[in-house]
Amino acid sequence: MTVTTTRPEPAVADRGTDPEGPAGRRVLTGDRPTGPLHLGHYFGTLRNRVRLQRQGAELFVVVADYQVITDRDIADRLAEHSENLVIDYLATGLDPESATIFAHSAVPALNQLLLPFLSLVSVAELGRNPTVKDEIAHSRQSAVSGLMFTYPVHQAADILFSKADLVPVGQDQLPHLEVARTVARRFNERYGAGIFPCPRALLSEAPLLPGTDGGKMSKSRGNAIALAADEDETARLVRGARTDAERRISYDPAGRPGVAGLLQLAALCQDRTPGQLAEEIGDGGAAALKRTVTEAVNEHLRPIRARRAELAADRGHIRQVLRTGAERANAVADATLAEVRAAMGAVGSA
Ligand code: ATP
Ligand code: MG
Repeated sequence: MTVTTTRPEPAVADRGTDPEGPAGRRVLTGDRPTGPLHLGHYFGTLRNRVRLQRQGAELFVVVADYQVITDRDIADRLAEHSENLVIDYLATGLDPESATIFAHSAVPALNQLLLPFLSLVSVAELGRNPTVKDEIAHSRQSAVSGLMFTYPVHQAADILFSKADLVPVGQDQLPHLEVARTVARRFNERYGAGIFPCPRALLSEAPLLPGTDGGKMSKSRGNAIALAADEDETARLVRGARTDAERRISYDPAGRPGVAGLLQLAALCQDRTPGQLAEEIGDGGAAALKRTVTEAVNEHLRPIRARRAELAADRGHIRQVLRTGAERANAVADATLAEVRAAMGAVGSA
């Protein structure tokens, strides 16, 4: 294994990163179509994507459909979930005229990049990846598949094909991004080719939004409030959130994680600080806190949900967005694969 000697760039970009600058010209992110997007996605990455796009960055968004079978035996309702993801993207403000929104499975060159990339990381490195370990612990499969084990490399191909330099993600993705950075550096070094920029993560002010049980809000852990949920469902989910019996509401993330998570959520929706909100609720207890959170979330999401409903009525348009995105992504991925093959001296390369 070649060990890299060049000094790496910082792995996480400054929050106020300016996409006009050299660090942010091309942005790639994505999500697994395992269910509806939730507030963790929205505050964790979606708002950053929209902000970067509005500032002029070129955006690539991958619907990571092959990644669903990393930890599921059956890719359940894949097409429906994929289309719903696109509806969520457009409803929150992504513009498909300029953003390239595509499904992984529609871009075959991504899987061809996987082989040379796999040769650049060791089994021990993959085994140490904390996010893979965590996802294995929450997996519904009895045995860990080879795909589950190698999926950070799979994801490296999803990122590097676009030569993105900025990747807006939640905190759980940092170990995966480190793999992509390692692959980029090692490929460039091993083949003496400066093909891949070293991508940096962009974290939001909510890099790990807790769900209603206090753990990371996740599609697959039954603790999420979906963007697509209606107002009554939102109220029911917030009512069921784990808190404590203390009447006075205070912001104490270490000592009172359930209360702190709810305060954080309402504060994000109202663009205030959790401490201010806690003061205001005072001795109102968990019931008053939950009422505040429900109102804040429903109010913030009202226009997004209305837009969602309009978009959901025209599935033909959503499928067209994915077709156009796949065309653009294939052109970029084929060009990158041709460079990779040429750098490796592959037979048949130009
Ligand atoms: P699954 O349970 O199927 O893994 P998920 O809810 O974890 O779904 P992903 O599709 O794995 O969602 O993640 C997509 C993106 O959203 C990633 O960048 C991830 O870091 C970010 N993200 C997911 N959940 C949160 C959260 N609770 N807070 C902040 N960011 C999040
Ligand atoms: Mg996940």
